[in-house]
Amino acid sequence: MNQPVIYFDNAATTKVLAEVAELMYRSQLTDFGNPSSPHGLGRHARAVIEQSRRTIAHLLNVQPGEIFFTSGGTEANNAILWGCTTGLGLRHVITSRLEHPSVLKTINAIQEKFDITCHFVNTDEKGVIDLSHLKLLLEAKPGAVVSLMHANNELGNVLPINEVGLLCRQHQTLFHSDVVQTVGKVVLDLKNIPIDFAALSAHKFYGPKGVGAMYIKAGRGLLPFMQGGAQERSMRPGTENVHGILGMAKALELVHADMDVVNLNITSIRNYLINALSESIPGIIFNGNIFGDTLPTIINVSLPGHLEAGLLLPRLDLEGICVSTGSACSSGSSKPSHVLAALGASPKTPNLRISIGRYNTINEAKRLVEVLTQICS
Ligand code: PLP
Repeated sequence: MNQPVIYFDNAATTKVLAEVAELMYRSQLTDFGNPSSPHGLGRHARAVIEQSRRTIAHLLNVQPGEIFFTSGGTEANNAILWGCTTGLGLRHVITSRLEHPSVLKTINAIQEKFDITCHFVNTDEKGVIDLSHLKLLLEAKPGAVVSLMHANNELGNVLPINEVGLLCRQHQTLFHSDVVQTVGKVVLDLKNIPIDFAALSAHKFYGPKGVGAMYIKAGRGLLPFMQGGAQERSMRPGTENVHGILGMAKALELVHADMDVVNLNITSIRNYLINALSESIPGIIFNGNIFGDTLPTIINVSLPGHLEAGLLLPRLDLEGICVSTGSACSSGSSKPSHVLAALGASPKTPNLRISIGRYNTINEAKRLVEVLTQICS
């Protein structure tokens, strides 16, 4: 099978930018000292980390001291949620049923050990968060922590993060947002968003896998989630992923540099896909807030007909097309999506998440429409 692969699974992960890969390759050969070692090579590795921290902090408009490196978004969400509840002693968590499993399952795990109550804010059939319900919850549960993701990884829906942050401030409530799907796709000015904590992951913005960060606003005083070392000012023990951190900073710098041009291309592919799929596949349903506040990178569809949900991915895979069903991390899994279930979608209806990235072309979109039309007819 020599057909070129068409990759429409950019919300699951992205291809590392060549410049990032080259920089990391060279860094592994030269910056190999342990950043905690006091000798020259160690100090050099430390300098690589601190320069990367400054770059990332500058692009997010925060202080370098507010960035703590982790192994990715999952660890960042875990550390922040455990830190807020068991560390800061908060007893109420307000979230939604549409969050990533690294938030929902973490809250479950905390609840199994501690007396914490979780409150779910209502969402409508498009997955839009009900802000008046959030306000009621905030009034009823002072001193809670709110965890709501900036953009939903399955639907693309974007949260009015400023409005939510302001509501949280007005109710003296800490606000955490998983911004994994928006970093590098929109400009995030975290200093001017009323937010206390955020989770980031490099592999969603053309950086390496296995590295991410937490933003912790100065003075929030979280306790560390793991023990065993003084790295990251004792907030995240373990030898730092020096080359990953370097690659993450470079990737963020590069995607910020051409964000507008890339977003224009992605938006035109998205508009083409929405129009062409609507025309060629009568009965197709676009899930989420597709014509509202949403990321241009994600289109989630339910397909009509008698196609078996579990056969859709293998059929597309045979044609060299990579997309996903359900959540990012469970591509290929036959488990129905908890997000679509919360929207009231039938678990039997085949569904697809098409996620567009910087390398996609209109011709690839045309091929995807052609193959999907064949499959559905
Ligand atoms: N949060 C969201 C919204 C995601 O999409 C993902 C990845 O799928 C994660 C968290 C987990 O990030 P990581 O793969 O870096 O652990």
